[in-house]
Amino acid sequence: MALAQLNAQHTVPETILEEAKTALSHYPELKDTPITFKIIKNIKQSTMRAQPVIGTLFKSKKKRAYVILISEKIKISDEVFLTKDVPKGIMIGWLGHELGHVIDYSHRSSLNLIWFGMKYYFSGSYIKEAERAADTYAVTHGMHDYILQTKRFILDHAKIDEKYKERIRRYYLSPEEIMDVVKQHETTNKK
Ligand SMILES: [Zn+2]
Repeated sequence: MALAQLNAQHTVPETILEEAKTALSHYPELKDTPITFKIIKNIKQSTMRAQPVIGTLFKSKKKRAYVILISEKIKISDEVFLTKDVPKGIMIGWLGHELGHVIDYSHRSSLNLIWFGMKYYFSGSYIKEAERAADTYAVTHGMHDYILQTKRFILDHAKIDEKYKERIRRYYLSPEEIMDVVKQHETTNKK
């Protein structure tokens, strides 16, 4: 797969170059954070996943690197749905959500992240907390339009597996909650 270098720190597959550029432009504070976007065959239970690079967990917080894994296919019931065919705005929303995870991780200590990783796998309430934090960061970084597009795409798409939709409803912010975050963020910014 052809990779492109967005800057010294950001590596992106060429198929999603423009989308990654737009998503990253909403997170100027990640400019110096090493992030690699990687398309892989399959991810258990999800379509994308952001995680710290294990080997960099023992370095200082500033030197920590992250990888965003992107599944080649979206979970669907019958038809094959390739991630590269996802409309641009929806891909941007998806990547924006993953970058929200990176922001969340960047505030945590390495020990906390290791502990966090374990809890995420074993606790539903922890998944919910993490996913809602990522959505909230994306929205407060001005990405609510994209996040809404992504959400509607998943929830309204007849061919996307019902189990996956259920997961999105259970753990993520709903479209109404996203608008609440937007309103709240606007009022705090005005103060
Ligand atoms: Zn997530």
